[in-house]
Amino acid sequence: MPDSPLLSVYRRSPTIMARGDGCYLFDDKGKSYLDFATGIGVSAFGHCNPRLIAAIEAQSRQLWHCSNLYHTPPLDRYAARLTANTFADKVFFCSSGTEAVEAGIKAIRRYHYRRGESHRIRILVAEGAFHGRTLGALSACAHAPSREGFGPLLEGFDVVAFHDIAALEAAIGDNTAGILLETIQGEGGIRSHSPEYLQKARKLCDTHGILLALDEVQCGFGRSGTLFAFEQAGIVPDIAMLAKGIGGGFPLAALLLSDHAASGMEPGSHGSTYGGNPLAMAVGDAALDLLLEKGFLAHVGEMGEALGAALAALGQQFPHVFSGSRGNGLMQALIPARPESRYALSDALRERGLLVAPAVGGVIRLLPPLVVQPAHIEDAARMIADVAQSHFPA
Ligand SMILES: *Cc1c(COP(=O)(O)O)cnc(C)c1O
Repeated sequence: MPDSPLLSVYRRSPTIMARGDGCYLFDDKGKSYLDFATGIGVSAFGHCNPRLIAAIEAQSRQLWHCSNLYHTPPLDRYAARLTANTFADKVFFCSSGTEAVEAGIKAIRRYHYRRGESHRIRILVAEGAFHGRTLGALSACAHAPSREGFGPLLEGFDVVAFHDIAALEAAIGDNTAGILLETIQGEGGIRSHSPEYLQKARKLCDTHGILLALDEVQCGFGRSGTLFAFEQAGIVPDIAMLAKGIGGGFPLAALLLSDHAASGMEPGSHGSTYGGNPLAMAVGDAALDLLLEKGFLAHVGEMGEALGAALAALGQQFPHVFSGSRGNGLMQALIPARPESRYALSDALRERGLLVAPAVGGVIRLLPPLVVQPAHIEDAARMIADVAQSHFPA
C-alpha cells in the first residue's frame, strides 16, 4: 500500500489481519496463519482468550477510567497480587514497555538524588540492548540506526560489551547509578546473559551501592518457562520492567521495585494518565491467574524444549539456510546463514502460513503463544522445512 496514510515507520506486510483465535490469525480473505510472532511476544494466552474476554467484558460494565486520583478495586487487587507473587514491594503501572523503562530510569536517578548523591546519574547498558523508542529509552539502546538523527539524546548511558563481566566491572565509576540489562536480549537476537554474568552483576551492584534493573518486557511473564527469566540465575533485581505478555494483548506495563529502589519516588515525581486504568488491571489480573495456574509454567518449559529441539534439527537439515538456533523457553531464534535473508525468509514463511518476527540482531524470532501445543510446533517445523526447501534450494 504505497499511498497508505500511515506514517511509514514500519516494514509492514501487505497482509490485512481480520481476526484471531487461539494460536491462529486469519486475514481478510480467510487464510489462516499459525502465529509464532504473537505481536512480538504479546498474545501470550492466544488470541481472544475466553477468560480474558470475560474479564474485560465484566470490567467494561463497571468502570473504564477514573485516573490515578482514586483507588479502584481492580487496581488495588492487581497491585496486591503482582507484588505478592514477585520480588516487588511497589509497582507503577503504565501502558507500554518503553514507559516502564522511562519510569525505571527516573527511579534510579531519583534514588541516588534522595540519598544526597545527585552526581550518580550514569547507567550501564549492554551492546545490542533494546529498551524502547522514547528519547530516554532510546538513549539506553546501543543500536546506532534507530538513534540516528534524533539527537541530542539523554546524557548518562555507558554501553558495555555484551556479556563481558570484566568490561562491566571496569565501567563502574563514581557517577554510576545502576545497571540496566535485558535478562535475555530480544531485539538484539535472543541473546541470554548467563546465570554467572547476572550473579556477578548483582554482586557488583551490592558492592558499589548501585541499582540493578532488569528489562523483562520481552523475556518476562513466563516466556522463558519461569515467571521472570532472572529466576533461572537465582538472583533478584532491585527493579524490573514487565510489558508485552502481561496484558495478553491489552496495552499494559508495570515497573516493579523493591522498597529500597522505590525510595526516591514520591507524590508528583511521576505519573501516567492511563496507567492503572481499570480495564487494563482487570485483564492483567486475569492473565496473572492463567500464568499462575498449576502446571502452566512447566508447560511453557516443555514446549520450549520441544521448539528448541525442532529448530536445532532444522539447522542441521538446512545448514545453507540456517546456521543454527538458540533460545530459552518459548523465546527462540533461528539464525539465518545470511542475516539479511531474515526478512525474505519471514515473508516466505508468512506466505506458507507461519508468522515469525525478524529481529534487528539478524535472527528470526519465534515467540509462540505460551498456550502452544506440540501439534502446533510440529506444524511450524514442517512449514519452516518447506520454505527452506522450496525457496532456498541447496
Ligand atoms: C518491546 C520492548 C520494549 C518496548 O516496549 P513497547 O511496549 O514497545 O514500548 C522495551 N524493552 C524490551 C526488552 C522490549 O522487548
